[in-house]
Parts: sequence; structure tokens; C-alpha cells
Amino acid sequence: MRWKGRRVSTNVEDRRGGAGAKAGGISILGLVVAFVAWKFFGVDPQQAYQATKQVTSQSQSAETKGLDNPTPEQQEAMDFVGTVLADTEDTWTQVFQQQLNSKYIAPKLVMFSGVVNSGCGTAESAMGPFYCPADQKVYIDTTFFKDMRQQMGISGEQNSTELSRQDQAGDFAQAYVVAHEVGHHLQTLLGISDQVQKARAQSSTVQGNQLSVRQELQADCFAGIWANHNQQRTQFLEQGDIEEAMDAAHKIGDDYLQKRSTGQVVPDSFTHGSGEQRMKWFQTGLKSGQINDCDTFDQAI
Ligand SMILES: [Zn+2]
Repeated sequence: MRWKGRRVSTNVEDRRGGAGAKAGGISILGLVVAFVAWKFFGVDPQQAYQATKQVTSQSQSAETKGLDNPTPEQQEAMDFVGTVLADTEDTWTQVFQQQLNSKYIAPKLVMFSGVVNSGCGTAESAMGPFYCPADQKVYIDTTFFKDMRQQMGISGEQNSTELSRQDQAGDFAQAYVVAHEVGHHLQTLLGISDQVQKARAQSSTVQGNQLSVRQELQADCFAGIWANHNQQRTQFLEQGDIEEAMDAAHKIGDDYLQKRSTGQVVPDSFTHGSGEQRMKWFQTGLKSGQINDCDTFDQAI
């Protein structure tokens, strides 16, 4: 995949400073401090806890920073994701205008490491990338890409010493993951996520899961539309890229993700559909480039 030299989005938040990993322990510390204050100093525990919480939120905001001295690889990872996000912005701005006669509102993308606080709660890297509708942000853990390359064997026959480089094999599969998450943002903008949520509230678990699968496949189809238009605009695809994405779609389908699951809440992993379904819908979007052709709710999947 060709990506260097294009615009880099300003909507990327770098929170790879990593200290977010402490967030989980802080509230417990707060409770301990409150208990000690109450036990030994006679301070109202609730007041004491509130006080520690204030300190906590201050130190948390300080933790949402980027890397002080990123290595060339870390900087490149940032540039890569920023370029892909800019590609989605340019594509969807144009497609929204041409096909929907409306304005595209771009999401923010948070790069994090370890643990992150999102508008949808605390998330860990084990959960994989996700989109949070509440704050309209895409969350990408940097180690996920590394894991993805290794676990998917995406490196193929590549020389292993070249693996750390972002522009080696696997880059299009990573871009596809970003485009899929942006697809969920589109669903939020278009009111589809809301409709699905309402319908799910009134349906059985099985029906609800079916709706989620359809929603996931639509995000894949949207990723395909992005690839179609971005290719016309930038000729970014190289030989083997589509196969790479297909392989990624297959390997990060439900069948794969469920094996990988750590048993925690996995908001964007369980209900993607099979690898074959994901490939089919990515291809549909890729071939047509039309939003209307991504109606996964009204067609056989
Ligand atoms: Zn998804």
C-alpha cells in the first residue's frame, strides 16, 4: 500500500504516553485513602474519596499525553494511521456530498497503549480496536497492529528483520481495520446505529446478535467503498493488498476473534460475522463504491 507523502489528519489524539495503564488502580487507591482518612483522622469517607477523585482526574488528564520521544517506528505508526484517517476524511467528505448531498463530520482517532478511558468506559488493548458512539472516537491500540501482523502471519515470507517497519506487509490490512471502525462512525452519523440499538432492545438475543452481525458487515462494506474511492483518488493500492485485506477479514472474523478473546467485554469483536461474510461485503463496497449497495439489513448476508 502506498501511503507516504499524503495529507496526515489532525484528528489523531496521541495517548500512547502509556500512563493510562494506571487508571484502573487509582480508584482503589482513592478508596484506601478515604478509609485511612476516615479511620485515623475522622474525615467523612465520602468527602475524602471525592477529594482523592479530584486529584485522580487531574493526574489522569496529565496521563492522556503522547510519547515524549517516539522512536522512528512509533512516529511512523502515527503518521501511517494519520494518513489513513485523512484518506477516510477526504473520501467520505466527497461521497457524502455526491451520494447523500450532506456534510461528513469526521471522527477523532485515539492512539493508545495499554489502557484508555473512552466515552464508553475503560478499554484495554486486549479488546482490539473499537469505535465509541458516545464520544464519536475511534480507539486504536498500537500493539494491536503488531499482534495482528504476528498472529495473522500477515508477514508471510517477508524477512523478519523488516517486520517492525510500518510500510511492510500488513499495512493495507491495518488501514482496513481503521476504515472498518470509521464505518461504525458513518453508521452513527446516518442514524443506523440508533435504529439497530432500538431494534435490539425489542428482540431476542439471537435476533439481536443477527442485527449486530449485519451492522458489522455493513462497516466492512463501507470500508470497501473507502478503498474504491481512495484508489480513484490516490492509486494507493499495490499488488496483493486486496488479498491481504481479504485474508485479514477472514482471520479477524468471529471465528478468529472468539479464539483470541480474553473473556472480557469485547464491544467490537464478537459479532462480526464469518470471515467469508466479511470478505463478501468488503468486496461489495469495493466494487460498487455506492452507499446504497451496503444495505446489509435488507439483503441476504
Ligand atoms: Zn466492527
